[in-house]
Amino acid sequence: MNIQAPLYAEGELPRYERHILLREIGGQGQARLKQARVLVIGAGGLGAPVLLYLAAAGVGQITVVDNDKVSLSNLQRQVIHSQDRLGMAKVESARCTLMGVNPYTTVVPLEARLDAVSAADLVRGKTLAIDATDNLPSRHTLNAACAAAGVPLISGAISQWEGQVTLYDPASGAPCLACLFPVLPPDDLQTTCTSAGVMGALPGIIGAMMAAEAIKEITGAGRGLRGRLLLHDALWGESREIAVHRTAGCAVCGAHHKDPT
Ligand SMILES: [Zn+2]
Repeated sequence: MNIQAPLYAEGELPRYERHILLREIGGQGQARLKQARVLVIGAGGLGAPVLLYLAAAGVGQITVVDNDKVSLSNLQRQVIHSQDRLGMAKVESARCTLMGVNPYTTVVPLEARLDAVSAADLVRGKTLAIDATDNLPSRHTLNAACAAAGVPLISGAISQWEGQVTLYDPASGAPCLACLFPVLPPDDLQTTCTSAGVMGALPGIIGAMMAAEAIKEITGAGRGLRGRLLLHDALWGESREIAVHRTAGCAVCGAHHKDPT
């Protein structure tokens, strides 16, 4: 007789009690979180809250990709890292923190740039991918791999006081990144936190929104951000959303796109 292994370790389930109490999540949604395999690209400002909240939520497996090391100027906002980890690979520092938060989450750290590994291999078999990178080439590489594999992609971006978050999912009729931003701007127009600055709590706001959207997407709760780009201006304390649509004949998702019915 084939006996199925139990989903949770002994003593694990009570930590998810507050989720299970939510009508929109319940035991079934929590089980989906446990069975989910999530790919997170970037263990920096946005990656920090995303990783912390997904591990705390009981996501079963998190693969985290980043080629950077922890530096002093990261600590103003990248709350998953700490002073005693300066010089350590960010993915290793993140793994250490996450094991302390939830030892029942399997963390797969990969110290690499996304363009140095096969994005298609990374995306394959994942429930969801999360774009928490700080550069456009990696965003487009991840977007193309997700569109080809039909994996939903939650994407966040921040600069100075403003941030945005959306869910790209051409497989269900929503646009992909290339539908909105088809052409890479020249290198000198690509500003990052390094050159433009960023207010420390902003990645916390946007990253936590990304984590919330991920929990909703995995459990099926509420209404996700397909076709909606949420913008937040922390300097003025204002949020708004704009509708976004696929581009007919998009070079990336055109062949994979399915009209909503
Ligand atoms: Zn597209």
